[in-house]
Amino acid sequence: MLWAMSVRAPTTTTAALDLLKLVWGYDAFRGVQAQIVQTVAGGGNALVLMPTGGGKSLCYQVPSLLRSGVGIVVSPLIALMKDQVDTLRGLGVRAAYLNSTLSLDGVREVEAALLNGELDLLYVAPERLLLPRTLDLLERAPLALFAVDEAHCVSQWGHDFRPEYQGLSVLPERFPQVPRLALTATADDRTRADILRVLDLGTAPQFVSSFDRPNIQYRVGQKDSPKTQLLDFIRAEHAGDAGIVYCLSRKSVEETAKWLQAQGVDAVAYHAGLPPRERTLAQDRFLNEEGLIVVATVAFGMGIDKPNVRFVAHLDLPKSMEGYYQETGRAGRDGLPSTAWMVYGLSDVVNVRRMLASSDAPEEVKRVEAGKLDALLTFCETAACRREVLLAYFGEDYHGPCGNCDTCLNPPQVRDMTREAQMALSAAIRTGNRFGAAHLTDVLLGRATERVVSMNHHTLPTFGVGTAHDEKTWRGVLRQLVSLGFLAAGEHHGLSATGKARTLLKGETTLTLRADTLIPRAAGRRAEKQPRAGRAPVTPEDQPLFEALRAWRLERARSLGVPPYVIFTDATLKGVTELKPTSHASLGTVSGVGQRKLADFGDEVVQIVRDSLDGRPAPVRPATPQERGARENSAVLGALRGRPLLESPAPPALLGDVAPDPARTEQVAAALRETRRAITQETGLSAFLIFPNAALDALAQRQPRTETDLHGIPGFGPKRIETYGAQVLAAVRAALTD
Ligand code: ADP
Ligand code: ZN
Repeated sequence: MLWAMSVRAPTTTTAALDLLKLVWGYDAFRGVQAQIVQTVAGGGNALVLMPTGGGKSLCYQVPSLLRSGVGIVVSPLIALMKDQVDTLRGLGVRAAYLNSTLSLDGVREVEAALLNGELDLLYVAPERLLLPRTLDLLERAPLALFAVDEAHCVSQWGHDFRPEYQGLSVLPERFPQVPRLALTATADDRTRADILRVLDLGTAPQFVSSFDRPNIQYRVGQKDSPKTQLLDFIRAEHAGDAGIVYCLSRKSVEETAKWLQAQGVDAVAYHAGLPPRERTLAQDRFLNEEGLIVVATVAFGMGIDKPNVRFVAHLDLPKSMEGYYQETGRAGRDGLPSTAWMVYGLSDVVNVRRMLASSDAPEEVKRVEAGKLDALLTFCETAACRREVLLAYFGEDYHGPCGNCDTCLNPPQVRDMTREAQMALSAAIRTGNRFGAAHLTDVLLGRATERVVSMNHHTLPTFGVGTAHDEKTWRGVLRQLVSLGFLAAGEHHGLSATGKARTLLKGETTLTLRADTLIPRAAGRRAEKQPRAGRAPVTPEDQPLFEALRAWRLERARSLGVPPYVIFTDATLKGVTELKPTSHASLGTVSGVGQRKLADFGDEVVQIVRDSLDGRPAPVRPATPQERGARENSAVLGALRGRPLLESPAPPALLGDVAPDPARTEQVAAALRETRRAITQETGLSAFLIFPNAALDALAQRQPRTETDLHGIPGFGPKRIETYGAQVLAAVRAALTD
């Protein structure tokens, strides 16, 4: 058995690559994916640290299919399980989930499928996994591996701590022979140690990827009229795109959402104070619609797996670099150009500093938090490459310029501002270290306001020393001084010089500040080279085809009751738009088009491309009753028996023009499934490796009688004909003579 040999021999990679192409339609593994797959498929344990969008899922999905038995995926994100399972079923993989959203019957059905070896992947919530009933069940089932997703949840150090995760130590204890793979996108050293301890991964290899997200463009600007700035940004660069806007308070979330709506932008509010129903609705809309903007507090985040979020905007400062990285990281999981956009101003800096100072957390905690905030503010104020500063914070040695952040695209001027800094500090000190920025600016500019006079501040030597600059400049200087820790923010927004200020006042250190605040806006460089992520991933000429494909995808997704990205990702639609394939064969070469997708959607996509080449608009077909039924079913049923879940209403075109008798087709399909099951048991190979469901469906339709009839079936190439051809022909013959 040639095919089977190649799987067991050392060339796991060849088998894995075949599978990757066949099922996912991808040509190559990314970075360390290949090594991880090889390790785990070979029965080893591993720890994987990879950024969001890095491609963690394939690291356990591919080995699960390569090994015999089912891959158990532990995930805390119940809300996402259905989408993940739908996505896998859409690829023809036999996947299911076990969590509290299932009915008792649903649970029984999944359990039976598990024991019968009818599953390739099973997603389980941790609390469900730890039930004695589930553990007993797993002991009786053939297991390929355990993948522990979001593994940082084991650690009390992080903000996503889940006590159940600590119970996962039961895995090495009760299933020592089953490979364990821990995956996370956030892990400092302490968290990493916790993961290794709980899952007993002692000597397992650790695969650490760079945390850079090259497709995200980082931009930080000065706040003047935040809402208008946001609207300009959205209109200019992301009209019609999905995005997240983060605000600090519930009130500003609601105000901003309302304001955007009034401007004709499709936006919805999300925060923890809204009724659960409204929150769920907002989240569902975000996942299922193409271009919705969610205005939210940080409560909106974990569990948002939408791959085509094109921008994340911050109207308020996050609390730390970790927060910033995590929140902006929700943009561009699909690898296409995306923007992380933020505006902030002096009052934001003063506010966050003050909030921190006045919190009643223990001193030690406050110190740690202050350090984190300092790092974020340094990032905001930097004149260097933002990516370099961001990655340096996470211990990565990245050397800019990256060419994809605002400071690289539009380098700010820096100036020696030591003298101005000394003036501002002395204004704070001479007025008693208790006045806010507005008052200090008045003093510096020599404005004898009522308040200045009543405090006698017009008699100070500092009064009027700063008239060479305008008000905006002074606010910029003060902001940078607060950001960099030379001024501290206290009660009533009062600013006081810190210990650190002394060296500066004595002239022992100098201070170089960004000069962007020094240049009046109109004369500035703003208009020159505005960085732009660009909204459409395709050229203007290709835009109509891309939009036609998006419209078709949305319609299809609605009829099947799944989010659009479950049908095809934006990256795949972009690939189709560029290649313009007019046949199944060429469509099959587009990244992200595997055998199953080709069989299910090939005809429709090819037709849309043809229409666009003919200059005809693509008709959007309403859902048939059959499709609407499929939506109802999409929870657990159907696919468990190896049936395709995302059924295409028309049989694939590759079958020629004989219309097969549906009853016979089903008879043959059943016989083929039986044959495949027998081969699975005999060889220990996953059903996929024998032949995928797409091939099974095509065989059932064509009902081949001779070896010649076997040629040209998708997913049933020469190797498979050689290995399984005879068994397939025998099964078809037997089914038809019954
Ligand atoms: P993560 O779980 O690490 O955030 P995902 O597993 O969701 O990332 O992958 C992010 C995106 O990258 C998905 O759209 C996925 O299909 C795509 N992807 C992952 N690996 C590859 C690959 N080897 N080739 C092409 N696309 C890939
Ligand atoms: Zn840069």
